[in-house]
Amino acid sequence: MKRHRSTSTGRFISASKKKRIDVFKANNVRKIINDHSYSSKLCDHGDNDSDIAECLPVVDDSEENSYASGDSLDRQIDNVNDTTEISWRQGRRIVELGFIVDKLSEGCSVLHSGIGERKLSNLLSTLSIPPCSKTTLKKREREIGEALEDIARSSCADAAVREKDLTKESSISASFDGGWQKRGSGKSYSSLSGHAAFIGHKTGKCIAFSTRNKYCRKCDSALKKGCDVKEHDCRKNWEGSSKAMESDMCISMLKNLESNDVCVGTIIMDNDSTTISKARSEVKADLKKQCDRNHLLKDFTNKLYDIRKAKNFRELTPKTISHISKCFRYCVSQNQADTEKMKKNLLALGKHVFGDHSYCGSWCGYLQNPLKYKPKHLPYSRYLCDEKLKITLMDLLHKYSSDADKLTHLGSSQANESLNNAISSKAPKTNFFSGSESNDYRVAAAIAQKNIGYGYVTDVCQSVML
Ligand SMILES: [Zn+2]
Ligand SMILES: [Zn+2]
Repeated sequence: MKRHRSTSTGRFISASKKKRIDVFKANNVRKIINDHSYSSKLCDHGDNDSDIAECLPVVDDSEENSYASGDSLDRQIDNVNDTTEISWRQGRRIVELGFIVDKLSEGCSVLHSGIGERKLSNLLSTLSIPPCSKTTLKKREREIGEALEDIARSSCADAAVREKDLTKESSISASFDGGWQKRGSGKSYSSLSGHAAFIGHKTGKCIAFSTRNKYCRKCDSALKKGCDVKEHDCRKNWEGSSKAMESDMCISMLKNLESNDVCVGTIIMDNDSTTISKARSEVKADLKKQCDRNHLLKDFTNKLYDIRKAKNFRELTPKTISHISKCFRYCVSQNQADTEKMKKNLLALGKHVFGDHSYCGSWCGYLQNPLKYKPKHLPYSRYLCDEKLKITLMDLLHKYSSDADKLTHLGSSQANESLNNAISSKAPKTNFFSGSESNDYRVAAAIAQKNIGYGYVTDVCQSVML
């Protein structure tokens, strides 16, 4: 018995689909081939290089434009005499490959999608389209890039004004974070370029951004050859260490904002004491700092690992560190409103893991049920007992509890982390873009995307009349 009925003979097939299948059956073909003008030209001319050059998508502009717009597509369809041809074209979006290649070859597609010349060539080669030359692509990128930077800057200025309007006080609060094009190990930074941005607390939009570059390919090659440098848009603006870029960018952005009548009163940032102290001495003495919650928690865990490495405590295993960090996170989250309670609970946490519950509050499992409670999250479900470890851990917690004021007013620079991710998607860390203006353009693209949304691509194309 036949169990499955073929879809082509089923009752629920649409009339248009049936018509299309009938056309295929009548012509005895299974798929449509030679669907666009370039492929048919390629078939006619053969495969040698000169023939392929003739088939470049820029050959016939009128035909390109007519295919590109929706209105003229209808006209194209009307011109087709064969009615069956119309039936399969209806309801579909048909875009000529020539149109795609023109759009891809504009610099904006490369900057927006975070690819370089090689990846674009790979993509075009899979479509059987001759690749775009590196020089042409770079020219297009430069045309687009400057417009892109203008749009990014003006969007930041708009966001800064809006942030100021939304804040009732005289100064605004903004989160700050920097990033580098090359991955840092956390201790050593050797990136040739860096970027940083301020994001307004109320609007969530980027209000200022800045970049620093240590290297310029053209200047460097001229220096090596010992010849004069040709005129170019040189982006080299930094000589110092890569880590110092962050504080320099912070100060220059704060000064810029102040000159535009936007005063930043509170900065939400990581535990970088250099940047804030420089900013206080050079820009504003009473600048307030709020710690970023995620950075603070990560910092505490890192300190525990440092203790483990330096003093080699056997009881301070990764499991113990993970448990203490978790308790610290709960303690910080649950005592945001009360500084005194935060101080007491931080010390209680240190004693609790050693079996001393004299400081513990209602959260303590032992106090709730002393007979059945076991510290199951510690190794072998036993309390820690190393006295030296206890002294070291309590010292660390005393330091945090003496700074409990900072712990009760935590901010978030998550928006900056998200922006840094967007930047690294436009300028992937595996590729090198810091030798030319490309890195700056890519940072500007990410900023424009953050402030305007994907519509920035259309804005850029309109501003350069594409
Ligand atoms: Zn240069
Ligand atoms: Zn306890």
